[in-house]
Amino acid sequence: MVGNVSIEGWGNHMKNKIHEIEKLVEGKERKFFEISDKIWAVPELFFQEYKSAAILIRALKDEGFNVDEGIAGLPTAFVATWGSGKPTIGVLGEFDALPLLSQKASCSVRAELVSGGPGHGCGHNVLGAGSLAAVVAAKDYLQANKMGGTLRYYGCPGEEAGWGKMFMARDGYFDDLDACYTWHPGQENTVIGMSTLANLCAYFHFSGKTSHAAAAPHLGRSALDACEIMSVGVNYLREHIIPEARVHYAYQDVGGSAPNVVQDRACVKYYIRAPKIKQAKEIGERVKEIARGAALITGTQVKIEFVAGMCDYVPNDVLSGILSDALLKIGGPRFDADDHALAQRFFQDFTHEEIEASLKELSHTHSDWLRYDQVALIEDVAPYVKSDGCGWGSTDVGDVSYAVPLAQMTATCWAKGTPGHSWKITAQSGSSIAHKAISCVAKVIGLAIIETIENPDKVAAALDEHVKTTGGKYVCPVGPDVKPRFTY
Ligand SMILES: [Zn+2]
Repeated sequence: MVGNVSIEGWGNHMKNKIHEIEKLVEGKERKFFEISDKIWAVPELFFQEYKSAAILIRALKDEGFNVDEGIAGLPTAFVATWGSGKPTIGVLGEFDALPLLSQKASCSVRAELVSGGPGHGCGHNVLGAGSLAAVVAAKDYLQANKMGGTLRYYGCPGEEAGWGKMFMARDGYFDDLDACYTWHPGQENTVIGMSTLANLCAYFHFSGKTSHAAAAPHLGRSALDACEIMSVGVNYLREHIIPEARVHYAYQDVGGSAPNVVQDRACVKYYIRAPKIKQAKEIGERVKEIARGAALITGTQVKIEFVAGMCDYVPNDVLSGILSDALLKIGGPRFDADDHALAQRFFQDFTHEEIEASLKELSHTHSDWLRYDQVALIEDVAPYVKSDGCGWGSTDVGDVSYAVPLAQMTATCWAKGTPGHSWKITAQSGSSIAHKAISCVAKVIGLAIIETIENPDKVAAALDEHVKTTGGKYVCPVGPDVKPRFTY
């Protein structure tokens, strides 16, 4: 057995390859566990990940990679390259944290490390370190076997906000890749066959005229009224757009706190999501018209800024097949008794609804998903299944999937039922459970990279498919003049 998969029927070459990659990963994995823990301990918000990026860059330089830092107008974005010749294979790493999710490691009751501080509530410390371990394993294998090929590690800041990959893709940083692999921490071990929602981010700044709200209201023009009317309009729009679309907003500026002063400025920020980027753009145009209508109604002016976007995720079947094969051969993370006990402590507190929702997610990949009803930590693997459905989140991995052929896996990093973007993820992302996922992902993506390099016919087939499914050319959701924003 290798992992939990029978190796009968594989040739000697494959057995040796797997054995070699496993040995290479296990020889260095402690270093990557430490890197994950170090990034976990300095949680940094989008586009401010100076310490986290420095930790990854140091490790890449130590491993002989050349690093190009501060790319695409983003001080914390970087690309590290090793090797030469074709094919060129990329691996994506993320490392940004989320606000308000500070939490003690491995602690299943709410206990902030820093009051009101950020935390790795989406496990991007594990993501960044796992991808690093994978690219280093592939490099060590190529070196040991005197093989050609170029490897890249992409340091992608601001996945949670800011959406760094969009700017990196707009500047063409992925264009010369033949294939790209990535992963995301999760509750199961599989290759993701489901799309994600495209998303557009826009600010609507209204400006009017102040006046005494009681003595001379007729002389004022309220920007706050305009925001409110715009939102009423958008809420009516909902009935007449595709039901899969999601539109939500948050006030950025309500024009002050005095009811007796007509608000001469107000700003509302929108996310406009739909299964395809084309659909999101169409809905975006209608939202713009509503904003202009609100300005007309209130006698105010509106300045509209579309500041970033994320394409929907398009999984490449050929690469997903390579990655899925690698996962089935290597197996899932190998948890010990302490890991299971820790996961159980989180699991026991989940509500029936939370467990049910997570089981439903599993049903996409595990046909006998109900048998995981009482399993807190999933070690089993499920093969890649292409799905017509769409996950309800959004990710800027979608932009890379439009730029180049890409496959993405997930590995168990937390107890089944753990809610997304929560302090419970922060706690588990700083635990030994996350270390086991890093080891697994390094071996699986490492093996997938080697398989890709050894099979040029599959590289060609992946590109062929990519051109058919995406048109083969990345079109950035926002214009060339839009600059990254460094605050919410
Ligand atoms: Zn995430």
